[in-house]
Amino acid sequence: MALQFEIMAVTPFRQNCTLLWDDGSGEAVLTDVGGDVPHLLAQVKAKGLQVKAVWLTHGHLDHAGGVVEFVSHCDVPVLGPHCEDEFLLQSLPEVTAQYGFPVSPAFEPTRWLEEGETLSVGNYAFQVLHIPGHTPGHVVFYCAQAELLIAGDVLFYETIGRTDFPRGNHEDLIGNIRSKLLVLPPQTRVIAGHGRMTTIGHERQFNPFLQF
Ligand SMILES: [Zn+2]
Ligand SMILES: [Zn+2]
Repeated sequence: MALQFEIMAVTPFRQNCTLLWDDGSGEAVLTDVGGDVPHLLAQVKAKGLQVKAVWLTHGHLDHAGGVVEFVSHCDVPVLGPHCEDEFLLQSLPEVTAQYGFPVSPAFEPTRWLEEGETLSVGNYAFQVLHIPGHTPGHVVFYCAQAELLIAGDVLFYETIGRTDFPRGNHEDLIGNIRSKLLVLPPQTRVIAGHGRMTTIGHERQFNPFLQF
């Protein structure tokens, strides 16, 4: 029995939508449903899984632009991001049109998330950490038991998230990564919002933005 995951790069931005499931219970969650919804639905069905929720790290279009379409086929609660990203979810119709994505309506999640909450996939608990900087309402999901972090656009292989978007803040991002993520066990595997996986230990040693 283990926590399993499959990373599916969606949208022209190759955003890492992640299907997480507990193979003991068959219970599954999808993170950051940015688009390519028919493909995601087919993958879930092929694995015979029961998706019980969508979790969102932040409100950017490549992470949230497919949510309304997804829940029209699979009616599950949408959890997160933090309410500071409400302005991004409200701007989705204009932003998706501007980038040539299928146009997404604005939406509100079923529930905004806050630091310190615990979410679950089967028998696995994920802690919610609020990491503003890339966006003000960005959250990440950490499972100590599975040594896994869903990092969204906060931390990438040897780099960090952009902070030149509306309400981005470079100092906040660096400070939050140092105080909340670099303190996690070094063997923690990191699924970043784009690109390859990494570990906390690798980033502590080699990330040029995080050298003390
Ligand atoms: Zn982003
Ligand atoms: Zn992104």
